[in-house]
Amino acid sequence: MAAQTIEALRSEVAGPAILPGDTDYEDARKVYNFMIDRRPAAVVRCMTDADVAAVVRHAAEAGLELAVRGGGHSVPGFGTADGALVADLSGLSTLTVDPAGRTARAGGGMTWGAFNDGAGAHGLATTGGIISTTGVGGLTLGGGIGYLARGYGLSCDNLLSAQVVTADGHLVTASADEHPDLFWALRGGGGNFGVVTEFTFQLHPVADIYGGPMFFELSDGEAVLSYFNDFIKTAPREYGGFPAFQIAPPLPFVPEDRVGEPFVALISCWSGSPSDGEKLLQGFRDVANPVAEHVGSMPYPALNSAFDALVPRGLQHYWKAEFVDDLSKEAIQAHMEHGPRVPVVNSTVHLYPINGACHDVAADASAFGHRDATYAVVIAGMWPDPADNDANTRWVKGYDAAIAPLSQGGGYVNFASGDDQAKVAVNYGANYDRLREVKRRYDPDNLFHLNQNIEP
Ligand SMILES: Cc1cc2nc3c(=O)[nH]c(=O)nc-3n(C[C@H](O)[C@H](O)[C@H](O)COP(=O)(O)OP(=O)(O)OC[C@H]3O[C@@H](n4cnc5c(N)ncnc54)[C@H](O)[C@@H]3O)c2cc1C
Repeated sequence: MAAQTIEALRSEVAGPAILPGDTDYEDARKVYNFMIDRRPAAVVRCMTDADVAAVVRHAAEAGLELAVRGGGHSVPGFGTADGALVADLSGLSTLTVDPAGRTARAGGGMTWGAFNDGAGAHGLATTGGIISTTGVGGLTLGGGIGYLARGYGLSCDNLLSAQVVTADGHLVTASADEHPDLFWALRGGGGNFGVVTEFTFQLHPVADIYGGPMFFELSDGEAVLSYFNDFIKTAPREYGGFPAFQIAPPLPFVPEDRVGEPFVALISCWSGSPSDGEKLLQGFRDVANPVAEHVGSMPYPALNSAFDALVPRGLQHYWKAEFVDDLSKEAIQAHMEHGPRVPVVNSTVHLYPINGACHDVAADASAFGHRDATYAVVIAGMWPDPADNDANTRWVKGYDAAIAPLSQGGGYVNFASGDDQAKVAVNYGANYDRLREVKRRYDPDNLFHLNQNIEP
């Protein structure tokens, strides 16, 4: 059955279908997280909307699993599966910017690096992820957290419309006016509702930003986190940074004898004037002397690729996530117990603030279910050697067990792992029941189930 389907599909699509035995199959079957070791029946590099529709139709008709791959960054490896048809969207990566209208149309398989460079050429940007290789697709559909979120909302809040191939193989437009229920669900409901072949985003004028990392001694960690918690409640929306636990990499601004040590870091992005940014960060320097820092003016896309080298494709990944209202004293103590034990330079813990403009959107206006959270915390375990899998996953789980009781009881779906399906209702939060209704309408047979799955 699979062989017949693939033969028929091959003759229909413009892009190549890569099969077991083909020279590029070994690479094509893999995703960003190399802990995922799966062998799909075929990886179809979709070049057009019609290619996507063909893959969707053939998978449904043949009863084959369908994996949809945007940037391929999903930690659970949703972009590949044993015996599946993979709709690889990397060929759909055209960006069309309308500088006058301040909008951009982005192909469903585009990465944030290409998006930021294209929009940045016009002095424009929208909220995207902090690593340039992450896909626009998966990130936006799950919500989308990044440096500009406090200023301009989540990535999904900037979505104006989407071209979607639905489970029946039809291409529809989802926007406030067309298929508004689908449009609602796409903004936070993940890849559950169809394949987005093109996203249209609102852009904003973003000139050079002022920011970069500061590293503080662990002994100052409690004071820095506590200061951040007070600061972020009223910080101007131009501020979009976050505290982190991070081992210092071997970079020129880090004293040689401190490389390899864990620190409490502050990664800042200030989109106002550099002098105002400087004043704002002085508040942190007054709390504690940074051991190392690399803060200055740079193009926004530069900050969005500054940490790419720490997370190359091919690491092992295991992550946990929690939405948090407040960094209480108890929460800070839990972080100070587990954060400094970060095992390897690639791993990190980020406490992303999602107040400011993210809170302007009503809780039921989009599917993103944790509008009232102040932070989205991620414990991102990433390490090179599979021999270290046990030690690293143990660190992530132990850390999460300590902070989960202090959270809202759910975490950001885009930071969740493959073993988080049991938490899916609390992770989608307040809008879960309505998401299920929309799922029943658009994908009653759950064709799109390789995701943090909303069962119809
Ligand atoms: C190194 C790294 C850094 C990250 N940084 C951030 C960050 O700063 N902010 C943040 O919010 N998240 C971040 N994330 C998490 C990220 O949002 C998720 O991993 C997200 O799923 C990635 O999307 P993708 O398209 O690259 O992944 P994929 O694995 O391709 O897809 C993820 C899910 O989305 C679906 N999907 C992807 N594209 C489409 C599409 N066009 N139409 C329909 N469904 C689609 C897939 O089927 C799958 O279920 C990061 C992840 C990594 C690994």
